[in-house]
Amino acid sequence: MTPSADDPVRNQLRIWKTLGFGFLEKYEVKAQSASAPAEASTPAPPPAATFDAKPSLALEDRVTALQAIATEVAGCEKCRLCHGRTNTVPGEGDPMAELMFIGEGPGFNEDQQGRPFVGKAGDLLTKIIEAMQFKRSEVFIGNVVKCRPPQNRQPEPDEMETCLPYLHRQIEILQPKAIVLLGRTALMGLMPDLRDKSMTAARGRWLDFHGISVMPTYHPAYLLRNASAKRLVWEDMKQVMAFFGRTPPGKGG
Ligand code: SF4
Repeated sequence: MTPSADDPVRNQLRIWKTLGFGFLEKYEVKAQSASAPAEASTPAPPPAATFDAKPSLALEDRVTALQAIATEVAGCEKCRLCHGRTNTVPGEGDPMAELMFIGEGPGFNEDQQGRPFVGKAGDLLTKIIEAMQFKRSEVFIGNVVKCRPPQNRQPEPDEMETCLPYLHRQIEILQPKAIVLLGRTALMGLMPDLRDKSMTAARGRWLDFHGISVMPTYHPAYLLRNASAKRLVWEDMKQVMAFFGRTPPGKGG
């Protein structure tokens, strides 16, 4: 089947390529050719979704609880990272979000603005979220540590351990259906049993965090330095899209 100029799949592919996902070109080829071979690798199915059985907080309770954490974080001096910060970065997003993204910690721009993922890496994350057919405002974005480490170094283990209860509480409140872990620090923070695993080995495979499906992938900052890894991240995000019943480009269109 040859799609017309106003074919929705083709149009969406054009938009995504404009956003910097040029590697999606191959999916356009697939969309144009019904006889194109199927993808070689079939992703493993996500773990069983047990979240429906959990009690869920009402919107106003979530807003109140998330705001309480943000207020607590704003005055937090529990670890040495409080000394170098301009602003705390507790995280932001839809209190009813079904999808959560977790990164390492604030960088320069995030520290200046008090918001997560607002620099170049943040722009790329926003593009990834939109390519997944979500709006940034529909998801929740947080970090393992809420204050900027000096010179953007990785957070020390004790800093992560001290700050993690805030993130755990946010997850408890949100009860997202799925979490995307961005980079190895996020993986080590949320899944300490996997701290010896490289991101190369861990990415692309569903994990379970107390009944929540977790997909580790590379951090957007890594993608800015290693453009070839964008394709791998997109493979991982396609699994997340499928988990939410969204059709990646070139499939079912
Ligand atoms: S990084 Fe976390 S634990 Fe450390 S001071 Fe900031 S909010 Fe508190």
